Amino acid sequence: MSTDFSRRNFVLLSTGALAVAGAGAYAFLTRTSKTDGRIVLAGSTTSAPLQVPGFDELSDDQWQALTRSDWKERLPRDAFEVLRLEDTERAFTSPLNNEKRDGWYACAGCGQVLFSSDKKFDSGTGWPSFFDVVPGRIETKADNLLWYTRTEYHCSRCKGHQGHVFDDGPRPTRQRWCNNGVALTFTPRSELA
Ligand SMILES: [Zn+2]
Repeated sequence: MSTDFSRRNFVLLSTGALAVAGAGAYAFLTRTSKTDGRIVLAGSTTSAPLQVPGFDELSDDQWQALTRSDWKERLPRDAFEVLRLEDTERAFTSPLNNEKRDGWYACAGCGQVLFSSDKKFDSGTGWPSFFDVVPGRIETKADNLLWYTRTEYHCSRCKGHQGHVFDDGPRPTRQRWCNNGVALTFTPRSELA
């Protein structure tokens, strides 16, 4: 009788401990992976063309069906490594750092317009930086490649990696969209009029 009682208590205690441990793990997972796998469409209201000239006009599904080897054929090596392998270009290497003209910055993979020049600012980091994006064109996800979590973002259409977004940008958004220049193309606004 007393043995049964102890055993039952042990089972109850063990179950309770597992439940507590389980709840802890769940809280840990939900806290640390708050944006894991969660797609967030970023951006405030503005009007922008969907795409710049010089790219294929494929459907979203067709863009997303391209394989890694398809992309390797389509892109220069440095753009392929950033867009498809999430590499980061060396700072201060992109001519777009010093681009001051009025125009549109589009994904170098598929040509979808992602940023407007009026949202560009000099962050001093050596990468083209923007304080806002064209709405609906960018998706974000948590990136745990380093010891801390960063927020990665990519083109919503071809899913090509663009850069990382931080919360130390200028007013009014306080956002800093830190972009690889090689993942973008620039088209003067006059060419899309
Ligand atoms: Zn794209």
